[in-house]
Amino acid sequence: MSEENGITSRLDGTPDSEWIDISIPVRDAMVHMPKDPAARIYRIYDADKGDIGTMYGMDITSHAGTHIDAPRHFFRDGKTIDEMPLDATMGLARVIEINDTESIKPEELNAHNIQPGERLLFKTINSLKAYETDELFKDYVCFTPASAQFLADKRVRAVGLDYIAAGSNKNDEDLIKVHQILEIVGIWIIEGLNLSAVQAGQYDLICLPIKLEGGDAGLTRAIVRRISK
Ligand SMILES: [Zn+2]
Repeated sequence: MSEENGITSRLDGTPDSEWIDISIPVRDAMVHMPKDPAARIYRIYDADKGDIGTMYGMDITSHAGTHIDAPRHFFRDGKTIDEMPLDATMGLARVIEINDTESIKPEELNAHNIQPGERLLFKTINSLKAYETDELFKDYVCFTPASAQFLADKRVRAVGLDYIAAGSNKNDEDLIKVHQILEIVGIWIIEGLNLSAVQAGQYDLICLPIKLEGGDAGLTRAIVRRISK
């Protein structure tokens, strides 16, 4: 057992609680940002078509589906995804439910007594609406430069959002700023979560990116297990 912020983590296992998958499926033509190429998932060998076995090929960006952005994404000398400390996105995490249906704003964050070192997963209306299709959900709720700055000033460890980009698709400048503000202070950003099955509260989080050498980001599977409200 380990203790952070006065709460005991149970990553080492108790049999009475269940893990919940908060990652989204990786599939052909899955939702992606308009300027990024679509994921292409295909079968190199296909037992359904008479081959001896099945093997998939994947042509996919480092930002497809549920993934973690490393500081290298916008900073040439920033930490790469394979340099991520394993506990940056593993251990205690708090799910915060955001009521604002437009964006995550500092005023709303201010009500949650956010502490340095916290791993925070933000559940917005995106989780209920955004994954119904593989089309981009253009009105997704995300961070603004002001709320990114709020979290950077708090020196949180990692932030997670329930859609594929932490910043707005309607304003490239804002999108880049949100990433830069978080990344320059070393905050790891989990994008593409689906938090529809979880409520606000404390959880154990397991979320590790693939070890993409020198990479700016990495695809990940993310799961949580409830500890308390
Ligand atoms: Zn990303």
